[in-house]
Amino acid sequence: MRVEQLGDGTPELAIVGGIHGDEPSGVSAVERLIEASPPVERPVLLVIANERAIEAGERYLDADLNRVFPGDPDADAHEKRLAHELAERLQGTTALSMHATQSHPEPFMVSDRIDPLVERLGRSLPVESVVDTGEFIQGRLFRAIRTIEIESGLQGSDAAEAAAIRIAIAFLEELGALSGPVAADLRERFGVEPGPASASVPVFRLTRSVPKSGTDDHLVSVNNFELVDAGERFATADGVPVVAEEEFYPVLLSAEGYDEIFGYAAEKITELSSEPPQSAE
Ligand SMILES: [Zn+2]
Repeated sequence: MRVEQLGDGTPELAIVGGIHGDEPSGVSAVERLIEASPPVERPVLLVIANERAIEAGERYLDADLNRVFPGDPDADAHEKRLAHELAERLQGTTALSMHATQSHPEPFMVSDRIDPLVERLGRSLPVESVVDTGEFIQGRLFRAIRTIEIESGLQGSDAAEAAAIRIAIAFLEELGALSGPVAADLRERFGVEPGPASASVPVFRLTRSVPKSGTDDHLVSVNNFELVDAGERFATADGVPVVAEEEFYPVLLSAEGYDEIFGYAAEKITELSSEPPQSAE
């Protein structure tokens, strides 16, 4: 694990890349921020989490790091020890943890709750949608630290790499760690635009996982975040159609992303408009 700090004092915010070793976009964003070392208004930790898995080009070595929090300092598995160490280092921060997917090209935010911070970030960060994990937080960083996860796009793509640094800068600027001019300088240095804030950002809540049947010949035939109707075929397993029993929004649905499940079914619970509602006097 590599940890650098911008600014003095107890860190309040953190940018974390490399929880998964095969998702280079977040690692690149953290490395770029370390190299640029911008002046900050609030202390920020910059963390590259699973260096051994990154080196190996694998999601993990012994166990999926984002399924073993809060971790165990005495475990045999590398990632269980690392989870404990990472949770200790991040204590007291609000962390932006950056991931990438095999399922969706556009960036989206994942949180374990919908509260004023998430609503504010959902409105201001360049993301397409917000996903509330509901109860599906088993062993994730959410278990240990106040975390906002970002899925920045398709693993290994240039678009995900650009989205990750764009979103990291926007997060630090929105939460007062970077001044406007410093954020603008960083965007210019890295050749990224601020990114359009959507007029309206849909919020989805995961309701269940979608199990895989068959052996290992899987295909997903729908787009994430687009409603699948009851009776619609959304996948095939060993050539056999898999049909929706009831309507759902697919989230993180892919043929190869997970071993046991295609991904998740979600419901759309609200929309965040870019103009927050006027408070009543
Ligand atoms: Zn990941």
